[in-house]
Amino acid sequence: MKNSDVVRGTAAIAAEVAAKHAADVDKVSRFPIETFEALRKAKLLATAVPKEYGGQGAGMLELGHQCAALAQGCGSSGMVLAMHHIQVACIARHGAGTPYFDAYMREHLVERQEVVASITSENGTFGDTRSSICAVEIHGDQMELVKDATTVSYGQHADAQLVTCRRTADSPASDQVMVLFEKDQYTLEQNGVWDTMGMRGTCSPGGKFSGKGAAVQVLPGLYADSSAQTMVPYSHILWAALWTGIASDALGKAREFVRAEARKKPGTVPDKAVRLAKAMVELQAMRHNWESCAIEFDELAGDKSALEGMAWALRMNQLKTYASETAPKLVHEALQIIGIMAYKNDSKFSVGRQYRDTLSAALMVSNDRIASKSASMLLVFKDD
Ligand SMILES: Cc1cc2nc3c(=O)[nH]c(=O)nc-3n(C[C@H](O)[C@H](O)[C@H](O)COP(=O)(O)OP(=O)(O)OC[C@H]3O[C@@H](n4cnc5c(N)ncnc54)[C@H](O)[C@@H]3O)c2cc1C
Repeated sequence: MKNSDVVRGTAAIAAEVAAKHAADVDKVSRFPIETFEALRKAKLLATAVPKEYGGQGAGMLELGHQCAALAQGCGSSGMVLAMHHIQVACIARHGAGTPYFDAYMREHLVERQEVVASITSENGTFGDTRSSICAVEIHGDQMELVKDATTVSYGQHADAQLVTCRRTADSPASDQVMVLFEKDQYTLEQNGVWDTMGMRGTCSPGGKFSGKGAAVQVLPGLYADSSAQTMVPYSHILWAALWTGIASDALGKAREFVRAEARKKPGTVPDKAVRLAKAMVELQAMRHNWESCAIEFDELAGDKSALEGMAWALRMNQLKTYASETAPKLVHEALQIIGIMAYKNDSKFSVGRQYRDTLSAALMVSNDRIASKSASMLLVFKDD
């Protein structure tokens, strides 16, 4: 999988385009336009679309490697690509077989290589993606939706928005659906700016969303199902993969630094090499963790009951919390190994951006929120 055309093509763009612009993207908090233009040209944005619709039909393992490869050049770019794939996977896995979504995949995702963003968070639901205040209103064959979103990544740069909301105005908060809006069907009035510690290139300020479209743009089925079967596994596995990519980028700099030290005193092993060796053990564990979840997902992909089961939910929660806590620790190790040259922002060994980017991982769906859900499950879950 690491050597597939998709991953090799993306790794080349990471090295030649994303890495070149990453410092500026971070500095001025701007969307990585050059990287996404290069991915669009190379037709690497529809990799999650099944082959029968013209996409590459990549499974989770290949998508994970693609996101990790891009994140090694620019963490924000890796995150945007992962978020796009998550939305595309929801469309492909829950919309396929309906005329609107079949045509959308062929024309918008494959032919035009469009980018899809998501609005799950909402003012008033406090980070709980499984509840909504807003509701889609259906009038005959038309529908409309208004949502007050707290965070919308690349909202102004996306070609479409996949939005969660209540199924009807009378539905309880957790009775949700997802609705797709194309670019000319909505407005997104930005609230404030996205001036954050890290992941600055994701350009994710809040905004007031207002859209109108055809009723067939409501994704079939309930969000309760698409969340468990698709949104959560794609999010946690692809995020873990790209966080691994960022940690690997930082430790790659540490490796380069230690090798340069070794060359100054041939025949000796620098003291810092021992710290590097220990960090590489953790990096390997981190990589194996997401890869094994991805392999298992690719085997289970059509097994709805397994993906909705407690064992899988716990596995996803554990992967997310482990990867989000390990990534900044590994960047911290790179900082200790390299020292002042990693602390300086103008050095080629700087890991400031990688450090700040990985600090978002534990917040992006709060680890405390996830731990409290796991804690409740563990009270009743019987391991087999
Ligand atoms: C880089 C980035 C990009 C994002 N992009 C998007 C996007 O494109 N679309 C989108 O919809 N959202 C996006 N988000 C938002 C994200 O998905 C989360 O919804 C948001 O980060 C959670 O916000 P919060 O910390 O206020 O949430 P909360 O989960 O409410 O957490 C607030 C506080 O409460 C604590 N807490 C919460 N639950 C518990 C509990 N059960 N036990 C103990 N403590 C608890 C937490 O530790 C935290 O301190 C993005 C976030 C980031 C960082």
